[in-house]
Amino acid sequence: MSPWIAKPVILVATVAMIAIRAPHGQRSRGVKVVKSRKGPLEVVLLLLVTLGFFVPLIWLATPVLSFAEYPLHPVPFAAGVVCLAAGLWLFYRSHADLGTNWSITLEVREQHRLVTQGVYRRVRHPMYSALLLHSIGQALVLPNWVAGPSYLVPFVILFAFRVRAEEGLMLEQFGDEYAAYMTQTKRLVPGLW
Ligand code: SAH
Repeated sequence: MSPWIAKPVILVATVAMIAIRAPHGQRSRGVKVVKSRKGPLEVVLLLLVTLGFFVPLIWLATPVLSFAEYPLHPVPFAAGVVCLAAGLWLFYRSHADLGTNWSITLEVREQHRLVTQGVYRRVRHPMYSALLLHSIGQALVLPNWVAGPSYLVPFVILFAFRVRAEEGLMLEQFGDEYAAYMTQTKRLVPGLW
């Protein structure tokens, strides 16, 4: 398969992610933060994730990553498109359900409400599931050893460091309500993990 077919797919998926987040991000930023756990490690990891997210655009627009190119095969390409589409749907739904309780980092906002409905009914971190689907999809669709996993690698590291701290923050904020929610849900995959 020509690697050119991956280009419109990556472009559309990247632009769609930005378009989904933009209005929700703007609305959430209008609500005051009352508690923050944004330490130096979180800042560094957020920077790496942001850089990783934009590396595919460098691959799209310039030949600087051509040394890492490999052939594109139809099966991983098709599987990747499915992951990207599912990831986009879940990214959209999780933003809609989380509303202004969203933050790019570990924060509690004024009148923060615990969301347990919609896509939050069966998993505690559907937005991270969506980002994982997106990053796996990107790694499968984009035939380049550098640009393909450029988001997956930093995101998995961020998730590994963040998930317990985030659940700790929610337990501190919502107490027994969050503890009960934890017993009814999995972290990322409904019914599994
Ligand atoms: N981890 C969640 C949310 C990501 S946004 C997900 O993957 O869907 C990160 C912020 O969301 C955190 O700072 C925390 O304050 C908030 N948050 C996490 N889970 C929440 C929930 N169930 N209800 C309300 N806010 C939540």
